[in-house]
Amino acid sequence: MQRQLNLRHEGTHFDLHAIFDDLNHRYFRGRLRGYEVLWGRRRRHRPRENFVFGTIQEQDRVIRINPALDQPFVPTWFLRYVLYHEMLHSVVPDQTLSGNRRRVHTDEFNRREREFPQYRRARRWEEENLSRFLR
Ligand SMILES: [Zn+2]
Repeated sequence: MQRQLNLRHEGTHFDLHAIFDDLNHRYFRGRLRGYEVLWGRRRRHRPRENFVFGTIQEQDRVIRINPALDQPFVPTWFLRYVLYHEMLHSVVPDQTLSGNRRRVHTDEFNRREREFPQYRRARRWEEENLSRFLR
């Protein structure tokens, strides 16, 4: 039962598939194919720091969104921004730095992220509300 719930894309408040499809169509010309978008595993405790909103595993084509975002106080445009950010990773290549280090938030990535219409609003909301996701 637990496992089934973990794999679902429909939360109580948001349906990730619907948002993914809309963003994919609107901003990526439908370029992201074969991706699964899921709510991640629910944690028993909120983290003390470093709340991770979402992740993308490009090899497996899986995007996971932190289920703590499936709450009524989270604006739809914020969740859309989180998803947009992860989706953008699939189209903007990483940079390899010296010592085999990688940079994922490149200048190009940051530029395209700012093109998201609610970018500033979303970043401000993140700053103002981050503490609600932490212990
Ligand atoms: Zn990122």
